[in-house]
Amino acid sequence: MTRKRILIVEDNLLNLELATDLLLANGFAVFSAQTAEEGLRMAREISPDLVLMDLGLPGMDGLAAAKALKANPATRHLAVVGHSAHAMKGDKEIALSAGCDGYLTKPIQTRTFAETITRFIASASERQTTSSPR
Ligand code: MN
Repeated sequence: MTRKRILIVEDNLLNLELATDLLLANGFAVFSAQTAEEGLRMAREISPDLVLMDLGLPGMDGLAAAKALKANPATRHLAVVGHSAHAMKGDKEIALSAGCDGYLTKPIQTRTFAETITRFIASASERQTTSSPR
């Protein structure tokens, strides 16, 4: 089984470190970027199985970055999960309408985080195999 590749786009170093540690401990290959621009570049280069996109980033925010990923034919197939501390009603809908395939709220739940990521990857690949050929 090949290791699933996760690109974490996150400007908060504590969150980045925690997410990275949890994913590495569960056998994922982890890449990270601290700005949307760097994240977009890395997404093109790495073509990860999933992009965990912090929605609150300095400069270009995560919603704009998710839109950019889905607007680019080179990256639109990538699974993108919006990650945000905002748990207000409507935030999930905003993330999904920006092109995110899923939405996850912070804080990171250490016991279930890796499993949650695994489930997002599974449902994203299910969607791809049931959709018409690209
Ligand atoms: Mn942030």
